[in-house]
Amino acid sequence: ADKIPASDLPQPAKIQRVIYTKIFINNEWHMSVSGRTFPTLNPATGDTICEVQEADKEDVDKAVAAAKAAMQLDSAWRKMEPPRRGRLLHKLADLVERDRKLLATLESLDTGKPFLQAFFTDLEGSIKTLHYYGGWADKIHGKSLPVDETFVCLTRHEPIGICGAIIPWNFPLLMLMWKLAPALSCGNTVVIKPAEQTPLTALHIGSLIKEAGFPAGVVNIVPGFGSTAGAAIASHEGIDKVAFTGSTEVGQLIKEAAAKSNLKRVTLELGGKNPCIVFADCDLQLAVEEIQKGAFYNQGQCCTAASRVFVQDRIYEEFVRRSIENAKKIVIGDPLDPQTTHGPQIDQQQFEKIIDLIESGKKEGAKLEYGGGAVGEKSLFIQPTIFSEVKDSMRIAKEEIFGPVLCIFSFKSKQEVIERANNSQYGLVSAVFTTSMDRALSVSGALETGTVWINCYNAMHVQTPFGGYKMSGNGRELGEYALAEYSEVKTVTFKMNDSM
Ligand code: NAD
Repeated sequence: ADKIPASDLPQPAKIQRVIYTKIFINNEWHMSVSGRTFPTLNPATGDTICEVQEADKEDVDKAVAAAKAAMQLDSAWRKMEPPRRGRLLHKLADLVERDRKLLATLESLDTGKPFLQAFFTDLEGSIKTLHYYGGWADKIHGKSLPVDETFVCLTRHEPIGICGAIIPWNFPLLMLMWKLAPALSCGNTVVIKPAEQTPLTALHIGSLIKEAGFPAGVVNIVPGFGSTAGAAIASHEGIDKVAFTGSTEVGQLIKEAAAKSNLKRVTLELGGKNPCIVFADCDLQLAVEEIQKGAFYNQGQCCTAASRVFVQDRIYEEFVRRSIENAKKIVIGDPLDPQTTHGPQIDQQQFEKIIDLIESGKKEGAKLEYGGGAVGEKSLFIQPTIFSEVKDSMRIAKEEIFGPVLCIFSFKSKQEVIERANNSQYGLVSAVFTTSMDRALSVSGALETGTVWINCYNAMHVQTPFGGYKMSGNGRELGEYALAEYSEVKTVTFKMNDSM
């Protein structure tokens, strides 16, 4: 967006009324079985955007029945040639592109994230993900395997079946696409539960699924709460796999429910307490700017947030000084205003958790360098906050804050910082800033995280796998690797009785 003249920047759509607010099953819109609805709020104003039909276990049962029927061997979906599956995904990508402004506006209203960030990150990423997995649909194949002369063996990569997807509120559309696109590319059917805070873009996608021409029942969307609709998916006997992004605590519940029901396959993308290591030989301004984007992007509500920044003692003071200067450029305001770079937190519960952690930092002796509280009264906006002199034992050093808080630590040696960086239950991402190629390679080999960024941050690509070590998750999303998470491998062995 920085390279586009202000007059050419996209403008938010004017939304008079949200059209899609019901449960999407079998390419039709349904009222909830219970008759209940729930409000979805605009976090920037506190206003109710609209009421949404509230799915519960009975609605999930209906969605699973539809997904199961669509998965039968003689169904249109099962008989569809793989290139045609790919074309449907490309068509869906084109429809998302067509409705890009509307979807970015809905995402901004429902999450509070700045409209331009929704337009350029969430929507761009969603469209790329659909095209990428559209391209894979006719390239998914097994192998023929050498055994001995009496047998011929081959493998088939088959869909797993009915895939549940439980989505968080921080990147509602993008996280949906990370699950939907590979699931469909591999030929599965899906039941998706968006987060209760942010159901609107997922429901709009329901309308595009139908318009694109996917057969009925292939995609089903059940807006509702975690402990009801979400739990029903995790423990459902008819669901073969569940993919979840969210908190580590709920990730544990999902795996437990899967184990106690039908041992469905589980992939989890959970929290992080991501270390960034800034060596004295780095390009300092680059490090300051990239790390600050990492810490404050999406109001800090990212599993990848740059949350533990270790700076080598020789450049520590200058790093802190420049970080404060850089933070002054952040523009807090109405998320729909193109000037805004920082919106509100998602809801009251998250707001209170973050304020409590900021207060704990002050009490435990970290030095507050910038921000440190709410913006005004009765709002969900929190100032970008910078703490220096953070110690590894403090709560802000250990707990996932999921808010706009940059914590700066000092270190002396490479060995010491690697040990401290790895001293966490999490292992999602990390970053290293240095101009030494040798150091970049040796440190990236030593860090216990699923991604290591060198001289950059939040550099996500649909071609590259994403996921966590340790309690940051199980399995990988994106790239070719994700196809394995949505496929079963079948070995077919032929006996040859007519040997040479
Ligand atoms: P959460 O984990 O409770 O919610 C994520 C999704 O899981 C939502 O769709 C929710 O409805 C569903 N869910 C909740 N309880 C469930 C259950 N028992 N069974 C099945 N599904 C269930 O996250 P939250 O409460 O909204 O946020 C709490 C913390 O989670 C945040 O502070 C942050 O640390 C973390 N979080 C992480 C991510 C991420 O991208 N990894 C995203 C959102 C939240």
